[in-house]
Amino acid sequence: MSPAESSGAPALLRVAGLKKAFGSNEVLKSIDLEVRPGEVLALIGPSGSGKTTVLRCLNGLERPDAGTVAFADGPAVGFTPGTTKKEYEALRTRSAMVFQNYNLFPHMSVLQNIIEGPIQVQKRKKAEVIAEAEALLERVGLAEKRDEHPYQLSGGQQQRVGIVRALALKPSLLLFDEPTSALDPELVGDVLKVIKELAQEGWTMVMVTHELAFAREVAHEVVFMDGGVVVERGHPDTVLRAPQQERTRQFVHRLL
Ligand code: ADP
Repeated sequence: MSPAESSGAPALLRVAGLKKAFGSNEVLKSIDLEVRPGEVLALIGPSGSGKTTVLRCLNGLERPDAGTVAFADGPAVGFTPGTTKKEYEALRTRSAMVFQNYNLFPHMSVLQNIIEGPIQVQKRKKAEVIAEAEALLERVGLAEKRDEHPYQLSGGQQQRVGIVRALALKPSLLLFDEPTSALDPELVGDVLKVIKELAQEGWTMVMVTHELAFAREVAHEVVFMDGGVVVERGHPDTVLRAPQQERTRQFVHRLL
């Protein structure tokens, strides 16, 4: 049980009835999720089950067909064809995404990658943002890479910059989309260590991952998706070690 759960805190994020189709392909068939402050939710499931699409909907990168997304201290955004650009933008400011392939701007230095959003989008003061970016880089062991470009960094270093870029936006919620799946095995540990520290500090996260051992260690809840629906959810020890559903059982046995 997470600290927030035991204190009965209200959900930081509430997703209800989320639906998304691409043409005739119904990718999300009514997804409900709840994440309390300080909780880590791990989304697992086979490739193509809709996990990334959930994250992209939460971050305003996709236009869902139906459903609502609500953050604790803001109005619920209900998805209809009439949902406004302003509502999507409001949603986008609540979370920050760490992408599978880092998605750093190749023509910008490490520092520029981090400060671009806070300065250009959030209109924050440059000196303050730079100082924060430098402190965050120091924290993940990359202070000396400040003026280098992404191509000069290893995948693990690029992903740590990706994480710092997300933190610099000071979001309510961090979204991780298979943050280590593009990395060489020897670089995975450094990135997982940073994510684990953030979880211990109390960041609220939704994480798509194939690292089931990591999910078991860090997550408060595991949600198993298949075919655009939530098949099973619950405590990591239950879903990963003693799943109730046959589909979950087959999936976790293949990966663990
Ligand atoms: P997962 O993250 O579980 O692997 P995704 O959310 O990436 O699954 O994809 C779910 C399904 O949605 C797949 O069938 C994929 O081909 C489809 N899909 C995702 N994004 C798009 C898109 N922009 N256009 C068309 N189909 C898409």
